[in-house]
Amino acid sequence: MKSFYPDQRLLMGPGPSDVHPRIREAMARPTLGHLDPDFQVLMEEIKGGLKALFQTANRMTYPVSAPGSAGMETCFVNLVEEGDKVIVVKNGVFGERMRQNVLRAGGEPVMVEFEWGTAPDLNVVDDALKANPDVKILAFVHAETSTGVRADAEGLCALARQHDCLTIVDAVTSLAGIPVKVDEWGIDAIYSGSQKCLSCTPGLSPVSFSEAALEKIRSRKSMVRSWFLDLTLVMDYWESEGGRSYHHTAPVNALYGLHESLVMLFEEGLEAAFERHRMAHDMLVAGLADMGLEMFVEESVRLPQLNAVAIPSGVDEAAVRSRMLNDHGIEIGAGLGPLAGKIWRIGLMGNSARPASVERCLKGLSASLAAGHNS
Ligand SMILES: *Cc1c(COP(=O)(O)O)cnc(C)c1O
Repeated sequence: MKSFYPDQRLLMGPGPSDVHPRIREAMARPTLGHLDPDFQVLMEEIKGGLKALFQTANRMTYPVSAPGSAGMETCFVNLVEEGDKVIVVKNGVFGERMRQNVLRAGGEPVMVEFEWGTAPDLNVVDDALKANPDVKILAFVHAETSTGVRADAEGLCALARQHDCLTIVDAVTSLAGIPVKVDEWGIDAIYSGSQKCLSCTPGLSPVSFSEAALEKIRSRKSMVRSWFLDLTLVMDYWESEGGRSYHHTAPVNALYGLHESLVMLFEEGLEAAFERHRMAHDMLVAGLADMGLEMFVEESVRLPQLNAVAIPSGVDEAAVRSRMLNDHGIEIGAGLGPLAGKIWRIGLMGNSARPASVERCLKGLSASLAAGHNS
């Protein structure tokens, strides 16, 4: 075996996003023990940073030691008990995964589905809540990465409260790219990922739980069906009250990376970061329009950080993506499920949301399309 030296790519797909050199440098620093007093200081800073990012005072805010999918599973496996009815809003890939999570936690999913590429209609969700008065939880995806659609998280959470439901919100792609206001919107359980708009390496999932969510967990009649993700056990490690104890060996160097990405985010300022994503998106949309390419999603519900581009007829979309990667060193994403072959997904997440990256992407795409016409 030999050491592995990957090429430097520009990551502009649905994640992971471009990792800033400062974050990679932070991750290369000396490994400390996971209970080292200095490391515990870092843990507290990460929790504080995540609270600011989630805009919450929730005490139970920390990064799960695994990717976004584990954050998703942490929310469902802790909150859903045998027989619990959960309304799952589905308008893409990740709503379906939520359904799978409800089933595996022993719950009963009630699906409210919308066409891929459209946003959840609040009236339809309201009707479902009225038709199912025994529903305990409303689950939805804030930023659907498979389509580039933003859901009205504030509106959906308000509906859930009117019906005495808790909320589980997927903010994997939204966090750090557009505002996520956990306390103001009344979100009860939320999970995100390190590798999208936080621009860190993959493998960590920031989560946060409200007091109402913790109350539901405390009053469970049955054990949480996962030992590793059981919140009450994990908290023996992430909570300092009464002293920390070993639960699992935290991914120490990965957490240096997350810490650095939070440092960078607050140096820039949250609002400035949102604005940067928006400007990169506007620049991309304008450049695509100049090339005669159209966006797949209606303007009012588009995510700046995930851009679904309609593939023109007659274009070999896979060939374009492979030319982007091999000739230009740029990764963009393919469509999934019913959108396979219909859209490309261009991510402007975190460090990828910069004018220079947008320019490179537009040039690469233009050349890759032209090469197809010539061959
Ligand atoms: C990427 C993503 C996930 C899963 O995150 P992983 O880190 O890949 O496990 C979940 N939900 C959404 C909306 C995502 O974009």
